[in-house]
Amino acid sequence: MVKNLFVTGGVSSSLGKGIFAASLAKLLQARGYRVTIQKFDPYINIDPGTLNPYEHGECYVTEDGAETDLDLGHYERFLNVRTSQANNVTTGRVYQTVIDMERRGDFLGKTVQVIPHITDEIQRRMLLLGETGDYDIVITEIGGTVGDIESLPYIESIRQLHWRLGKNDCLVVHLTLIPYLAAAGELKTKPTQHSVKLLLEAGVQPDILVCRTEHALSQELRRKVALFCNVNINAVIEARDAASIYDVPLEMLRENIDRIVLAKLRLPSSGEPDLQDWRDFLTRLKNPKTDVRIGLVGKYTELQDAYKSIQEAFIHAGAANECKVVLEHIQSESIDENNAARLLGSLHGVLVAPGFGERGIEGKIAAIRHVRENNIPFLGVCLGMQCAVVEFARHVLNMDGAHSTEINPNTPYPVIDKMKDQADLKEMGGTMRLGAYPCRIFRKTKAYAVYGKTNIEERHRHRFEFNNDYLKDFEAGGMIASGINPQQNLVEIIELRNHPWFLGVQFHPEFGSTVESPSPLFRHFVRAALEFKEKEPQMQGAAVPEGARHAF
Ligand code: GLN
Repeated sequence: MVKNLFVTGGVSSSLGKGIFAASLAKLLQARGYRVTIQKFDPYINIDPGTLNPYEHGECYVTEDGAETDLDLGHYERFLNVRTSQANNVTTGRVYQTVIDMERRGDFLGKTVQVIPHITDEIQRRMLLLGETGDYDIVITEIGGTVGDIESLPYIESIRQLHWRLGKNDCLVVHLTLIPYLAAAGELKTKPTQHSVKLLLEAGVQPDILVCRTEHALSQELRRKVALFCNVNINAVIEARDAASIYDVPLEMLRENIDRIVLAKLRLPSSGEPDLQDWRDFLTRLKNPKTDVRIGLVGKYTELQDAYKSIQEAFIHAGAANECKVVLEHIQSESIDENNAARLLGSLHGVLVAPGFGERGIEGKIAAIRHVRENNIPFLGVCLGMQCAVVEFARHVLNMDGAHSTEINPNTPYPVIDKMKDQADLKEMGGTMRLGAYPCRIFRKTKAYAVYGKTNIEERHRHRFEFNNDYLKDFEAGGMIASGINPQQNLVEIIELRNHPWFLGVQFHPEFGSTVESPSPLFRHFVRAALEFKEKEPQMQGAAVPEGARHAF
């Protein structure tokens, strides 16, 4: 019998429900349970693929090609298991299904209503992953905050499921905030009381309260929360701000949340969770032997969450290299040919980020020219790779005005062009080349040194591609295609022969990076940055000495 655990949030957004859910899942997984997490988002978009990163942070892509909430990235990074289309559901998708059913005539004669039709569809989807037989415990995180109008059908669905499944098979964990009022010098429980009251009005009694707080919760305060909110005192969990999100599983372990959850679900909890690998990772993360400075050039630099998976991939890669990666966010719009040397001068590596549209493109190209000419390690991801191709065309192959047709449809040298199967598409939602595709890597390339094998799979999210009409010119000039898609012959990886470490990838290696299995590309990029740092005085601006070529 699969057990269901729901995570709701109260008082405020950004309490870290996703990190909490991933941490709890990690503890249960480390005790041998098969766990997955799904996210239900109350917005009306069918998926976050059409949302600007400023609205909702990064759009995370699963192997099966779903454009999803960035919390799914946390689930994969913590659990090292893959999520899928089924792990992220939005109100838009729920309504679309119900409206399609109505048009088909499935409800003939009936008025179609939020209760029961929408809530039935929500519950059906909530139980789907559990029905696969692949999991012992399914954790369902509800986006938004209790009290939002749009969350109501989800809370109502939890109420009905709690009743249907019974309290031994269904738990509700409510994440809430205990603010500290500096003027009063006190932690305040009232917002939590109100938020639980809202849940109770909707007919849901939370079983466990996880309280985000900046200060320790005294026994007295825990007793007060327990009393007002009808939970056991041991089910009032303190969740202090942690130095790193990767500390949270251990913080939660200290609060015994895994035992409390398992006892309530009537599941055995003998012994301790096996977190040895996780602790080893944390030890490496917290005791770096050295550091490197890497520039992240992108246009969404004001918002931390826009490049979440890239940031996390650097954390995994840094720990693997026992090196702290200091990530400097550089607004691509601020870079030009004249200031690139100054803005990028102190860096040991530069990553040019994925993205869409014209804004900041010329800055990205100027940054790439600087790192190419100065032998600074470079990784271009998706749009970053496309910009590297444009830069090379313009400045090495003398193709004046070369561009991607995404930015300039009339360029004389369309070195990046729309993929053939994209040409006639009119709809924008869910129509890019999405998800994992195979890539064949050629031996004796830097890409082969990175992956150590000829066949890999990485995830994609793009419409444009390298234009193969120009491949011969590029290869003759020193930029080679070191990885291609074997079925469609699309260029997936480009690299420079005459540079210590310069790679561009059409895919997104960051989505596959986990604590247990860091992305090889990020790992090698950080290593190249370390080597650059060691040899920096000779390397900057000088011709590359043969011996300085990285792993080649
Ligand atoms: N805008 C580019 C394309 O659609 C790159 C997309 C990306 O960076 N994810 O091909």
